[in-house]
Amino acid sequence: MKRLLAAALCIALRATATEAENTAPLIELTATEQAYLAAMPIVRMCVDPDWAPFEQIDERGRHVGIAADLIQQVARRTGLKIMLYPTRTWEESLAASKAGRCQIMSFLNRTPERERWLDFTAPIFVDPNMIIAREDHPFVGDVRWLRDESVALPRGTMVEEHLRRDYPNLRIVLTESEPEAMTLVSERKADFTVRSLIVAAHAIRKQGLFNLKIAGQVPELGNQLRIGVIKSEPALRDILDKGVATLSAADREQIVNRHVSITVQNGTDYRLVWQLLAGGLVIALIGAFWMRKLSRLNRELARLSVTDRLTGIYNRMKLDEALAAEIQRCRRYDQALAIVLLDIDHFKRINDTYGHQAGDRALIDIARLLSEGSRETDVVGRWGGEEFMIVLPHTDLAGAGRLAEKMRTTIAAHEFSGIGQQTASFGVAAYRIDDQPNDLVARADAALYEAKHAGRNRVAGG
Ligand code: GH3
Ligand code: MG
Ligand code: MG
Repeated sequence: MKRLLAAALCIALRATATEAENTAPLIELTATEQAYLAAMPIVRMCVDPDWAPFEQIDERGRHVGIAADLIQQVARRTGLKIMLYPTRTWEESLAASKAGRCQIMSFLNRTPERERWLDFTAPIFVDPNMIIAREDHPFVGDVRWLRDESVALPRGTMVEEHLRRDYPNLRIVLTESEPEAMTLVSERKADFTVRSLIVAAHAIRKQGLFNLKIAGQVPELGNQLRIGVIKSEPALRDILDKGVATLSAADREQIVNRHVSITVQNGTDYRLVWQLLAGGLVIALIGAFWMRKLSRLNRELARLSVTDRLTGIYNRMKLDEALAAEIQRCRRYDQALAIVLLDIDHFKRINDTYGHQAGDRALIDIARLLSEGSRETDVVGRWGGEEFMIVLPHTDLAGAGRLAEKMRTTIAAHEFSGIGQQTASFGVAAYRIDDQPNDLVARADAALYEAKHAGRNRVAGG
């Protein structure tokens, strides 16, 4: 997949290079169309100001995103000069378009309601619509099967229009924006939402909504995104349609990759999600193997939900889960369980002296040392800030003390790049009958406090 994307990128880059050399329109225009261009060189465009990564108006007031790049290509090839008509909401854009204050709408589905005042170009981009629900929601084979469920949808969208008409079994909760629809589902204020795959994956990642998953597809509701042109300007529609026809699969792929790669660079963890997404898009276009790809995407999202972003080891959520599960096991099978809690000594000084990035690198080093020094069955995670926890199944207090001591000497002997020597303090505790997770953690915490007060770089509680 990586090679395929790279190859596509290469072709696409070559295409742009030749275009840059040749800025003249690449299409043949009729006399009417040429006359139109001459008479009305500037076209005002309304957009969705909050629909990343498709399009948005950024803090500097620029139209950015996949749609923005696609339209720019079309403008370059047709010779049209397109100017953004800024608005604050999608509703406002629809109103401006109906009132003729902007002649085109950048990127929208064709619907009977919109056809009252708009003509449309051929699709400029195709993307499937998915059902996004919380993790515990069962798979949805058909939206008709759902009884009494609520669906959160941004106001004025094609999906709203369609679901309202064809699925009276659903309760629709309207929101002012895309991100809000996803948040309502994540926070249990709605059961699901129906969103474009590319937007949903972007929002799940950007907003950290890792309790969401893709629960199915609405096959008849693919996004065929087009440029809408007010009905009084048929020549403009024809010119744009010719521009859209010049867009190749490689052009589209390059543009998607560009918006995808921004997010890939700052977190290696997400590379796989985006590869699956890009792979998923290709497959969506031929309409096959969807569910297999989706289950992989969901597995990847599930993995990310228990991973600490900085260090790549487990996060607090996973540690809490592991503690609860292991305590249940102790109760049932009368097994031993211990935990090690550690806190880096004088970590604030590292940040103050060498900067936050050096501090981050030290945290990554510690996470690696802890993972390398523990067993497969141990759960190593970041408890928060510069504190880490290791959950040790089948281990008593003495065993936990030995492991903590080994970790202490490993850390103290490690050369942290650009920082040098660094130490950590440890508190250990073992399960006692009728302990709740909090009791065990509180004892480890008290032991850690003791270790700090006794002079740091030591183990207490063992
Ligand atoms: P002590 O030996 O008593 O633990 O001293 P300390 O300085 O380590 O303790 P304190 O809790 O006062 O400071 C913890 C510091 O860890 C403060 C905070 O800025 C820093 N920190 C927390 N999370 C991160 C992070 O993700 N990256 C970096 N670089 N620093 C972090
Ligand atoms: Mg601390
Ligand atoms: Mg500390």
